[in-house]
Amino acid sequence: MRPAKLFPLFADILTLPGIGPRNKALIGRLAGEKVVDLLWHLPTGLVDRRARPKISQIEDGAIVTLKAVVDSHQPGASRRAPYRIMLRDETGYLTLVFFHARTDWLQRSLPEGEMRLISGKVEYYQDRPQMTHPDYILKPEEADELPLLEPLYPLTQGVGQKIVRRAIMGGLETAPELTEWHRPDILAKEGWPGWLEAVQQVHAPQAASDLESAHPARRRLAYDELLANQLALALVRHRARRSKGRALVFTGEAKVQILKALPYDLTSDQARTLAEIEADMAAPLSMLRLVQGDVGSGKTIVAMLAMAGAVEAGTQAAMLAPTEILARQHYATLAPLAEVAGLRIDILTGRLKGKSRAELLARLANGDIDILVGTHALMTVDVTFQDLAFVVVDEQHRFGVFQRLALAEKAANGVDVLVMTATPIPRTLTLTVYGDMDVSRIVEKPPGRKPVDTRVVSLDRLEEVAARVVRAAKDGAQIYWVCPLVAESENSDLAAAEDRHAYLKTQLGDKVGLVHGRMKAPEKDAVMAAFAAGDISVLVATTVIEVGVDVPNATIMVIERAERFGLSQLHQLRGRVGRGGAQSICLLLRGTTGEVARARLSIMRETEDGFRIAEEDLRLRGAGEMLGTRQSGLPDFRLADIEAHGDLMAMARDDARLVIETDPSLGTPRGKALRTLLYLFERDAAVKYLKSG
Ligand code: ADP
Ligand code: MG
Repeated sequence: MRPAKLFPLFADILTLPGIGPRNKALIGRLAGEKVVDLLWHLPTGLVDRRARPKISQIEDGAIVTLKAVVDSHQPGASRRAPYRIMLRDETGYLTLVFFHARTDWLQRSLPEGEMRLISGKVEYYQDRPQMTHPDYILKPEEADELPLLEPLYPLTQGVGQKIVRRAIMGGLETAPELTEWHRPDILAKEGWPGWLEAVQQVHAPQAASDLESAHPARRRLAYDELLANQLALALVRHRARRSKGRALVFTGEAKVQILKALPYDLTSDQARTLAEIEADMAAPLSMLRLVQGDVGSGKTIVAMLAMAGAVEAGTQAAMLAPTEILARQHYATLAPLAEVAGLRIDILTGRLKGKSRAELLARLANGDIDILVGTHALMTVDVTFQDLAFVVVDEQHRFGVFQRLALAEKAANGVDVLVMTATPIPRTLTLTVYGDMDVSRIVEKPPGRKPVDTRVVSLDRLEEVAARVVRAAKDGAQIYWVCPLVAESENSDLAAAEDRHAYLKTQLGDKVGLVHGRMKAPEKDAVMAAFAAGDISVLVATTVIEVGVDVPNATIMVIERAERFGLSQLHQLRGRVGRGGAQSICLLLRGTTGEVARARLSIMRETEDGFRIAEEDLRLRGAGEMLGTRQSGLPDFRLADIEAHGDLMAMARDDARLVIETDPSLGTPRGKALRTLLYLFERDAAVKYLKSG
């Protein structure tokens, strides 16, 4: 349970001053719906009202505070026209401009002949200084109320600075003092303030340099977040390690039979990766190994051979895929291989219901199924294995660490977990995502692949491209046509895909298929299957084909509005072609002429190295945007800037490791404070883990 001390931080933002049911939704979308979310909403700018020039000295665009006499009121000629008020000091005149202001209010706050303290931004209009809607209008004796320095927050439409500022200030007032969880030596070395002080400081910048990620308060908060992340990962890992491992003894018979049946030899990277996995399996510890291999590097077969080993050892294996399509594809690839080796393989997805499902579960529990491939459905409570000892998680980034472990929990006697990903997460980031898992990398591609001929083409040439696709399809080629990603609305995604589909149909009739995210799984599968079988020549798709789909005969990939995709996503999409022996082409249709878009897309032309692409993407766009957090599996950091705080990441990992070594149950005073840290960053699941373990 969350410690009571944190309650004020997790209170609804409705409890904050100025937030009512009306603006709650907007602010919720901007920052979040809990008080702590607002505290994490850091300012990106600063208003400095300290400048006190005379009117004649004011420069265009300056934010100033001036003391002046209200000279005269000039109401607008109509309701629409602005209401003007002239101010003067001994050096000249300045005009205040108000739109839609209430006259009585103006007359009350700015009576003619009186002195006022006015603060706001001055702009010159026809050589005269004017200020539209001053930020502050005060009587001279109220001067204390004027904030000389004010943080500027990122906003969203319909929410102004004042509201956000007031709410954050309210949140700061309720923020508790928390027991320090950082080591005193780190605090001293870095010169970091305590938690509460750090939160207060980040919201009270005194100079532009206080807004930088290098500021001690910002670094401290970033470190809090990174440490919570690393500690949660380390706890999970510790638990997995400690759960008694099991030494699997395998004969290699099934493996030899599968290898014999393959039309190719393993690449040396595949062979090395398999050897690393086998060594882990044979050891009496639980394995937690990540296989990182670019799209098309041949991870599936490695997983199959490892699963065969687990079956030889008399146990069961499971393979978890993120989507129905992928689970089916894996099953289709693996079933014939299982057959040659005499292994019993089956598939379980959400679609299997009623009697057939019950019957499959019975066989699984009896040990009549050796390898079970499936989706999330594998994690359902009533799925029990006779003796699960090996779990493969494909395209790991689609699953959370804890989901992955839910499957591992089904193994009564310890389990080896193999995680596979094609997401080429840059080296600098692997740590945040995977903690310190063991990593095998498959870098080398299977032989005989020709590089994909990648071209960037202006979207103006859409018709030309379509004509070319039609011609190629008539000549027997298979083509993927990916429609633009429209972030704002799924509907417009679909509309574009439907348009393209309709047009191509007029040219190619039934040889054109459409898949999109909102189709039901069986429909999607039917279309994918028809494409894989060659019955469909052009597959128009939204990004649902992105992960793992394998149709070696497809040689052309068209991506509309390629600039809207992350580079790594483009790389994944491009990886769908160039899988067979034939020369493949990838056409990136560019819809804008912006510099960044150009630079990004040209990287796609230069290289097919997924890691390099990921690094470039990171460099050009920053980590947050790289893939979109959900897709990349990158934790959604609010305070840590993965680039600017890179050094803190390794520090947090070492720190977390030490904690786990010396105080794995978080029972010491520091351990208890660290539990609060985990709750603060909503790593509740990790704490629960701690307890049940
Ligand atoms: P990914 O790593 O993206 O999951 P897959 O496992 O789907 O890649 O493999 C991509 C394709 O490469 C498959 O068609 C597979 O049969 C083929 N393949 C795998 N290993 C080799 C190899 N050593 N030599 C030739 N082809 C291979
Ligand atoms: Mg794959």
